Amino acid sequence: MELKNTTKSGQAGWVRYCCKEGDCNEGVRFKNTDPLNEEPYDIAIIGAGVVGCALAYELSQYQSRVILIEKAFDVGEGTSKANSAIIHTGFDAAAGSLESELVSSASREWPDMAQKLKVPMVQTGAIVLAFSEDQQKQLAAIQQKSVDNGVTDNEILDATTVRKLEPNVNPNVRGGLRVPRESIIDPFAVSIAFAEVALSNGTDILFGAEVNSITETDQSVKTVHVNKDLKIRCNIIINVAGLWSRAVADQYKGEAFHINPRRGQFLLYDKTCRKLIEHILLPIPTKKTKGKLIAPTIFGNILTGPTAEDLPYGSNDANDTTQEGLEEIEASTHQMCPSLADQPVIAAYAGLRCNCQEGSYFIRFNDMHPGIVTVTGIRSTGLTSSFMLARYIIDGMKEQSGLNLIRNTKAKNSRDESSWPGWWKPPYENEDKLASCPDYGKMICYCENISSGELRDALCSPLSPQTTDALKRRTRAHMGRCQGFNCGVPIIETVRDHSEIPMASVTKRGPGSNWISPQVQKEAR
Ligand SMILES: Cc1cc2nc3c(=O)[nH]c(=O)nc-3n(C[C@H](O)[C@H](O)[C@H](O)COP(=O)(O)OP(=O)(O)OC[C@H]3O[C@@H](n4cnc5c(N)ncnc54)[C@H](O)[C@@H]3O)c2cc1C
Repeated sequence: MELKNTTKSGQAGWVRYCCKEGDCNEGVRFKNTDPLNEEPYDIAIIGAGVVGCALAYELSQYQSRVILIEKAFDVGEGTSKANSAIIHTGFDAAAGSLESELVSSASREWPDMAQKLKVPMVQTGAIVLAFSEDQQKQLAAIQQKSVDNGVTDNEILDATTVRKLEPNVNPNVRGGLRVPRESIIDPFAVSIAFAEVALSNGTDILFGAEVNSITETDQSVKTVHVNKDLKIRCNIIINVAGLWSRAVADQYKGEAFHINPRRGQFLLYDKTCRKLIEHILLPIPTKKTKGKLIAPTIFGNILTGPTAEDLPYGSNDANDTTQEGLEEIEASTHQMCPSLADQPVIAAYAGLRCNCQEGSYFIRFNDMHPGIVTVTGIRSTGLTSSFMLARYIIDGMKEQSGLNLIRNTKAKNSRDESSWPGWWKPPYENEDKLASCPDYGKMICYCENISSGELRDALCSPLSPQTTDALKRRTRAHMGRCQGFNCGVPIIETVRDHSEIPMASVTKRGPGSNWISPQVQKEAR
């Protein structure tokens, strides 16, 4: 398949926000009435989770005209916003599987990729802990599995060494398996960074755009129908809609597969207890799950979880936490590290894994129609594998659809130095930066020490956040111990002033999630 290679060479793509009529009074802020260019895109990606964003990033290294279509109002709003934030080595994957291959090769490249993308990442290492004789025996088998997965840099530790490395683990520990390259990362920045680079290379991004039907599926130019009135014409469609990939595949009658959300609940501890652990602490895995871990976060907290609860097909919004789920996490993680029981929890949240009954990493090229690719079941490791998976999909399209892609030698593959988030490289510690603008000294979020200068920088960044959640994921303002109790209003005011909109139009995650309810607005008038 020949592409037209119509890349606007050297030109950045555009970002547009759509809004369905009647979603909210001020939805007009998100509504862009300019008609879309009628010229067909080479490739339309449906879903801007970490996989869709990585695909946009990798495709932007070629001369191709690509559009990323997302129903939410920011990238990474689906499963990608709520995970354990670990860059896995793949030591415990099913050896010989596609997942193992992609995760293990991605993990080796991640240190370099994180530097390119300016995404904070730290190699803490992980220890799989054994607390019984039986578990201790299993360590050798896990080590062998790790070697089978190409992760040979690991070692079995005796109980004394584990206690020396991690003095706060349960003193009854009998040994462990140390996997030094397991790492923690800023999970939000990954999708944002991939999308920003793609955007700068010419990828167009459409937010608030729900794909609801796909027609002309057997023609070389297909039509993707978005919301009520938008039509996007393209040669190739890649369905990376995560939990919604079945609903999207139904629109083109793709091959049968069955998915259900597998919920994972988490507890987030205050930064005051960060010193309790050094490594990611893992239990002995079961067939179904890696088990409930205790992990340091890149932001300086401790995270425990996740649960693994299979929910019925379609419960894609069931990301609430439950008392039973949180108690289950406490029971197993407090057993591993008893001191955690006295520590303050500042938040609880849940993410939904895309569990595919036909197996993880279910990928179909030319899915019942030439030029339509279905990617689903990216269940537990998609953050890690994202860009390797994207390369696998591109190679598959070359081989199986005869796609002819030419490298764009002018494409960027990295973000500028200034893209490091302020919480990672605080501007108030940089005298020159502070002198350049006093706003870097005006704190808005006191828990995380985020200044109004950092909020402004984020609001002016290439993929400018339009909602307070999007701003939160870029800066960490609102993510600290107070969870927005103190900084919530100043943050909303900052968005209002920057976007020059009324306070009542500021939303948490797009139309319909206004911070000020319509009732309050009415009463105030
Ligand atoms: C509890 C838990 C822990 C995890 N821990 C880790 C970990 O430590 N390390 C790791 O590597 N991975 C981890 N994962 C897995 C990882 O988070 C996922 O594999 C990854 O986020 C999947 O990304 P995605 O892009 O496939 O899906 P999503 O992020 O869900 O993206 C799909 C996107 O498609 C959009 N969409 C859906 N339908 C439409 C439509 N009709 N039109 C337009 N847009 C649409 C959605 O809004 C969404 O943004 C974990 C997952 C969970 C749930």
